[in-house]
Amino acid sequence: MRCGAVRPEPDLVKIRVRGDVVKARVNQDLCISCGLCVSTCPEVFNWNNDEKAEAINDDVPSEHEDCVKDAADGCPTDAIETE
Ligand code: SF4
Repeated sequence: MRCGAVRPEPDLVKIRVRGDVVKARVNQDLCISCGLCVSTCPEVFNWNNDEKAEAINDDVPSEHEDCVKDAADGCPTDAIETE
């Protein structure tokens, strides 16, 4: 049953937009340890004990999104997966 009340439409809705959180992961089977991602984006990628690159944190801070994208674009084996 409808009460007949009309919800007023807001004139302006402010939406706070957060930076996209990009997730980064290195496919260990594809990484050939070329070092590009570690040198391009050391804040996110580092070497692991197998001497392959890995993401330090899965969730990438917004200020490092660009360098993660550069590393993923430059990876010669497409080992860096982002979402
Ligand atoms: S750029 Fe790709 S292949 Fe090179 S170290 Fe990073 S993940 Fe491995």
